Amino acid sequence: MTDNTLPDFQDFTTRVLDWHDRHGRRNLPWHAQKDPYRIWVSEIMLQQTRVETVIPFYQDFICRFPNIDSLAEADLDEVMTHWAGLGYYSRARNLHQAARRICEEHGGHFPQTLDEVMSLPGIGRSTAGAILAFSRNDRHPILDANVKRILSRYHAVDGPPEKQDTQKRLWILADQHTPEVRIAEYTQAIMDLGALTCRVRNPLCKECPVASGCLAYAQDQVAVFPVRKQKKPRPLKSCRMLLLRRSDGFILLCKRPVKGIWGGLWSLPQLDDPELDIIQYCKEIFGIEILSTHDLTPIRHGFSHYELEIAPILCDMPPQKALRLFDDHEYLWHDPKYPIAMGLPAAVKRIIALLDPVAVP
Ligand code: SF4
Repeated sequence: MTDNTLPDFQDFTTRVLDWHDRHGRRNLPWHAQKDPYRIWVSEIMLQQTRVETVIPFYQDFICRFPNIDSLAEADLDEVMTHWAGLGYYSRARNLHQAARRICEEHGGHFPQTLDEVMSLPGIGRSTAGAILAFSRNDRHPILDANVKRILSRYHAVDGPPEKQDTQKRLWILADQHTPEVRIAEYTQAIMDLGALTCRVRNPLCKECPVASGCLAYAQDQVAVFPVRKQKKPRPLKSCRMLLLRRSDGFILLCKRPVKGIWGGLWSLPQLDDPELDIIQYCKEIFGIEILSTHDLTPIRHGFSHYELEIAPILCDMPPQKALRLFDDHEYLWHDPKYPIAMGLPAAVKRIIALLDPVAVP
């Protein structure tokens, strides 16, 4: 096939469906029902996260929040606890907010039109299309990362998928490839083909059902597509995190503001200003005297837009008669000998684990 030849969309679709009948993933827990709520939760969890990682989180989440009402009625704190470890926490906040909106605006029933679904927080066109395709077999194209990769390679699409005009072209192609029947199967099939065969690295072109029509493969240019955007190096930011430790070994956790990184999760006191005097800071902010400070090994954590270097500082307190800080919605004394039940970012868990070999003085 040359660039000017009209691609046979029907042939592509038939091949993808046949392949899926033989090799696709079938027994995923959210496949069992056509419940739009469960499909929605799975689709949100699968954004940025691999299926194998998602499955135990999904099962736990659905066990605790089996329907829209139970999610809407829950405290955000509890929702975040069940999301902790999956990352990209705005997804959990949006799910919770959207569940409340569905209760208020749609009587607790998941909306059925693309526009209504897309108006909910955290749901873009592709996710909305996938939810409606899976739950109602409605015909909507999808364009998640897997589909972008397949179509970019199959049609040798110039330009990075993040660019608006490339995106527009990919949506047109996605629509042309979407069949009129077996929509749910096709939607799962194209996702699976991207995840299992047209993989980011080492795609299995020799086993690919659409290899005969794939332009990138024919031109021996699979590695070139999707065209990559020029990446700027991620800036490095730094901060200090304090492990304020009482004489009984408990450490202070504080709740992060809802907006910003790790919004709404429990964390450690964080100092962004490198000049700030720790002893002074603890006295003024927490009313706590510090006996000694001890630098622990710094850790790095990558966010989508920057890298954060965290210098953990262990601050031991002398035995105190009275403390200004008590457990409440903002602060919590935690015994690091026991597992943490609340939502904590993975980086903070790593820092707390550094305490293990450092005995209380
Ligand atoms: S032939 Fe290779 S590059 Fe083309 S769609 Fe199949 S797996 Fe992807």
